[in-house]
Amino acid sequence: MSVLSERYFRNEQAAYEFVEKQVWPKGPVCPHCHEAGNIRKLNGSSTRMGTYKCYHCLKPFTVKIGTVFEASRLPMHIWLQSIYLVAQSDRIMPAKELEEALGVSAKTAKVLAYRLHKAMYSSIDRVAPESGKAAAPRRKKSDLAHPVYSAKAGRRATSMRDVFLALQPA
Ligand SMILES: [Zn+2]
Repeated sequence: MSVLSERYFRNEQAAYEFVEKQVWPKGPVCPHCHEAGNIRKLNGSSTRMGTYKCYHCLKPFTVKIGTVFEASRLPMHIWLQSIYLVAQSDRIMPAKELEEALGVSAKTAKVLAYRLHKAMYSSIDRVAPESGKAAAPRRKKSDLAHPVYSAKAGRRATSMRDVFLALQPA
């Protein structure tokens, strides 16, 4: 059975729930004012998927704000498929391959490839010292506890989880 048969690769609601769990492991956080307690999910029939309202600053938000998904109209489950494919590939994946694997337009594939590779490689620039004996960048102790540090040091993010860590707002 293909790993792409996971529910969050196929179902938009499940995809949102999966991303929310990655970005907000302790529950939703308002991207506008960083409130974490006074938040409710909006469930009206006309409400866009994954919309929450912060009762501190009174603004609505979704998990997409501040991530690579922001301002994208591509369904979340297609994003997840593309992240999976790019994270699993051991080389830079050409947009053409994403286009064929996902059945999206050439333009969409190009945007996806650009944003995902940028997110993946920047996550490692941030965390992995270059090989060799040159002085590693000074790292704060709090950074060392960050999950990416314990991931295999490499040139790129190695898993979907690494990519999600890179996608999170700073
Ligand atoms: Zn707020």
